[in-house]
Amino acid sequence: MSREIKAKKGLEIECKGWEQEAVLRMLYNNLDPEVAEHPDKLVVYGGIGKAARNWESFDAIVETLRRLESDETMLVQSGKPVAVFKTHEEAPRVLLSNSVLVPKWANWEHFHELDKKGLMMYGQMTAGSWIYIGSQGIVQGTYETFAELANQHFDGSLKGTITLTAGLGGMGGAQPLAVTMNDGVVIGVDVDPSRIEKRIETKYCDIMTDSLDEALEKAEEAKKAGKPLAIGLVGNAAEVHHEILNRGFKIDIITDQTSAHDPLNGYVPEGYSLEEADKLRESDPKKYVKLSSASMKKHVEAMLLFQEKGAVAFDYGNNIRQVAFDEGLEKAFNFPGFVPAYIRPLFCEGKGPFRFAALSGDPKDIERADQLMRELFPEDEKLMRWLDMATEKIAFQGLPSRIAWLGYGERAKMGLALNELVRNGEITAPIVIGRDHLDSGSVASPNRETESMKDGSDAVGDWAILNALVNTAAGGSWISVHHGGGVGMGYSLHAGMVVVADGSERADRRLGRVLTTDPGMGVARHADAGYNIAIDTAKEKNVDIPMLKE
Ligand code: NAD
Repeated sequence: MSREIKAKKGLEIECKGWEQEAVLRMLYNNLDPEVAEHPDKLVVYGGIGKAARNWESFDAIVETLRRLESDETMLVQSGKPVAVFKTHEEAPRVLLSNSVLVPKWANWEHFHELDKKGLMMYGQMTAGSWIYIGSQGIVQGTYETFAELANQHFDGSLKGTITLTAGLGGMGGAQPLAVTMNDGVVIGVDVDPSRIEKRIETKYCDIMTDSLDEALEKAEEAKKAGKPLAIGLVGNAAEVHHEILNRGFKIDIITDQTSAHDPLNGYVPEGYSLEEADKLRESDPKKYVKLSSASMKKHVEAMLLFQEKGAVAFDYGNNIRQVAFDEGLEKAFNFPGFVPAYIRPLFCEGKGPFRFAALSGDPKDIERADQLMRELFPEDEKLMRWLDMATEKIAFQGLPSRIAWLGYGERAKMGLALNELVRNGEITAPIVIGRDHLDSGSVASPNRETESMKDGSDAVGDWAILNALVNTAAGGSWISVHHGGGVGMGYSLHAGMVVVADGSERADRRLGRVLTTDPGMGVARHADAGYNIAIDTAKEKNVDIPMLKE
């Protein structure tokens, strides 16, 4: 059954309060065709990251939200509403748990069995926790990553460099824009032309071609001219990358964002058209996984060869190194993940992807919020530059929204100030504030956010659980616990947080608490692991950590 869900805008609400309405609107927003990758299948992004288990569950969630009282809490188990309990007005309206498997069974095989029986759904990160805002959600993080890479390797700019990557899907589609925002040239390979078309439509990518010759020629021309250019090249990365190597073409930066975390649904094996791949996936899933894993090994081999030839190589959070390693490529982890390489110092300060959406649907509300950010943090040059570029280059998808990386103290300040603007009518309807799970204190993911932790605590999952618990206690509006997002089953535990600024005094209390506990967990987690930046941040900002190291 195919259905079309559109983001809901305007000031009229169908629920019993704005908080419940906020949940409903963000669920709709996740599935708006402008926002989601395959909304007809309830798939939002990231392979098979879904918003609800099936359409029946979707309808039941909507119905329940319409009748949910302001002192009740709905429980959602992997995309299906399973209970409503009376709680209290400052408790979350919704609690979600997505794809959580008991560790011994925490693998894709077991997940797929349960998924087939209708007992589970893959929630990815913001798909199943209803705070996906389209590709913008990842643009600033991707921009920050490439900016830091430019600082470390290219004197602060990517001008005159060529980046090669693959996967221009929901998240990966941010790569071309992030590279050109840093003045570089990028070739993004995707096997599915419709994905590249979507990036062209939203202006994330400049041109599209299925000719490797043309892509290389245009890239070289732009590089020589020192001009930014994003080229979407239709092709299979496992093949194209080797072809580029064979031609001796120089690549300066190599990374990847195919959905390698999910070998059955996220990666197309070499030699297969999209239709052939779809057929094989259905008829012989085991063979499919074997072939796609072998292609990923070849893909990583090419990445390593580019690295040997002098390219800066990094893993972009899709677990492709692990697949290649399991296929026998011992050197697969010779290039680092992006978090230890570029992002961790930010995490130590509790910095992470603070995002918000205007429930009115009015872009003017986001304009006012952008202005507010300029007033509150004028000394943050990176943020100011980001806001300039975002205003100019980011086309809104679904509800108008914004992302801005903010740290401990800053998030609470911004949240409370937004609430004030809702209260005094400068912003016309409530604002939803949340984040990706790729954040400082919400993820345990040894091949990504917690790779190579200083104290070896990469696989300690307690932190993600504590994050969800404390944010629930602090009164977030909807809080979630997930397994397997980003890097796939067995490799991560993580938590989501969303809180609504409806202009009320109650919202002041909840925002103030949650936007402190949430980034505070990031500071505490990294201070505990012995990072000096986190220890200094904790001391400077009075984060109470009982056994803080001197
Ligand atoms: P997606 O499923 O929407 O897109 C994946 C893309 O890869 C698709 O467009 C697909 O056509 C393409 N693809 C598959 N096989 C290919 C091949 N052999 N050659 C070329 N293209 C191929 O996923 P997404 O939301 O863009 O996420 C991509 C990956 O990044 C996921 O593994 C996700 O978990 C991870 N991720 C990373 C971050 C981050 O910050 N780095 C954040 C979230 C997710």
